[in-house]
Amino acid sequence: MPDLQVHQTPEEFIANERARYETFEWILHLVPAGAGGTDLTRLPSEIEEQLTRIGIREGSPIERMREANRRIDWVRDEFAQLLDVFPNVRKSLASAGDVSAAAVNEAEFNGHVYRCKGGYAIIVPTGVLLLTSFTAELYGMFSTSHFQRTMVLGDKLLASRSADPWREQLQRAARLAETSGNFLALYPRQAGAELQILFRRYSDLGVSDPPDLIRAQSTMPLPPDPRRLGHPLEAGNHLRQLAIKFLMLHECAHIALNHFDGSLAQGTWTQEFDADLWAVRTMLESTTSRYAAAASVLGAWLLMTIARHAEAFDKAKSQTSHPPAHERIDNLWTYVRGTNLLGRASKRLALDCLEEAQTRQVALNRGGWEFREPRFAGGNALARFLSDCIAKRTLDPFLDQVARWLYQGAPSRLCHSLATARVELERKNKKEPKDEGIKLGLDAVMQVYGTADRHSNSVLKDMLQDAYWAALARPVPDDQVSGSSASPP
Ligand SMILES: [Zn+2]
Repeated sequence: MPDLQVHQTPEEFIANERARYETFEWILHLVPAGAGGTDLTRLPSEIEEQLTRIGIREGSPIERMREANRRIDWVRDEFAQLLDVFPNVRKSLASAGDVSAAAVNEAEFNGHVYRCKGGYAIIVPTGVLLLTSFTAELYGMFSTSHFQRTMVLGDKLLASRSADPWREQLQRAARLAETSGNFLALYPRQAGAELQILFRRYSDLGVSDPPDLIRAQSTMPLPPDPRRLGHPLEAGNHLRQLAIKFLMLHECAHIALNHFDGSLAQGTWTQEFDADLWAVRTMLESTTSRYAAAASVLGAWLLMTIARHAEAFDKAKSQTSHPPAHERIDNLWTYVRGTNLLGRASKRLALDCLEEAQTRQVALNRGGWEFREPRFAGGNALARFLSDCIAKRTLDPFLDQVARWLYQGAPSRLCHSLATARVELERKNKKEPKDEGIKLGLDAVMQVYGTADRHSNSVLKDMLQDAYWAALARPVPDDQVSGSSASPP
């Protein structure tokens, strides 16, 4: 979405934006020792390995991660690759001046283009990468081997213009055939429920946690390890890349189509539809392979489908300049059916894949609602988790989890949920001062507030306080935090 003009060069603007998003180092003070989960005081071995490889050895885990974030910018890298892969983009942006792209440590699912002095800055929050990855992996895991193969080969052909050698393709096909039955029992109900949890947490807390189904898979080894071929997460990995390419192209479209021209500073729906179609057309123009063509279309579909899932859970109906996702998806179908950029075989393959993906989306959606297990029950994600901890009489997992959520750079929605829980527990505590469960829950929330207070130069301290005043002013339903499941036994 195009945004207001700024009076800095793209590079200056990007440097300021990246600095604006604090990495909350003091969050570590919240983490109880040995709380289980992912210990923030120790990094997972594969990340340790990566950090050592790029020469970052000194400092606390968060200091080292921050240094890595400073050196590695996935959006900048994606953008550079995009210009390589699609020469027509470079041509379209030639008269736009300096165009730079960067990631910021924030959890929102949207990209922005800013008109700057002498060019443009494209800013994409890292939350986009997480939410896109997990959704793509869930869709990929449950797809037919034909679909999976199309995504893998298509993305490879698009990115490097060469597919895997035959021997590797055969190995992949064999592994997919061998494992194709493994996930049948989980589809569509459990998979659908996992998808719903992912998006409910995103809506309540602004974070993307890996679904259990994905966590249960072995880590996918880096290339050229042959164990990648046909790995349950392989197709999803490529689908994510395709969706990210589409997102970046959509942002480029706002620049190439001159959406900053005239008096319109904000994007209109027509501009958004135009940007979508420009992005798909640009991908299709650059490929002669039917796999790459079908995979490009599916990348666009996935990004729009993520927006659709997010809309379904977005109770706050957050401000967006983008039209409803189902209309964007309808437009995509119409475009693919009508375009003459696709030959007969390519169009057939693209429409088949779209059909399969769309059928899965409907099945996962319905299946998710049918799946009844306590951990998939409704309510605010933070309040539910706190209730579980109260019932088990232990706060450590809660504090550990809140710290990890904060680390994802998710403050505004998370602050809202924390403040709501605090107000609700305070009210209940007043009514039932002897209830141990309520006291325990309030104590947990106040530990987060207290830790933020002790770091007075933190932005988060003010955000939590503002969210608290706002929550006090709101009437709160009283069945959320210590409802029946939370009451002490
Ligand atoms: Zn847009």
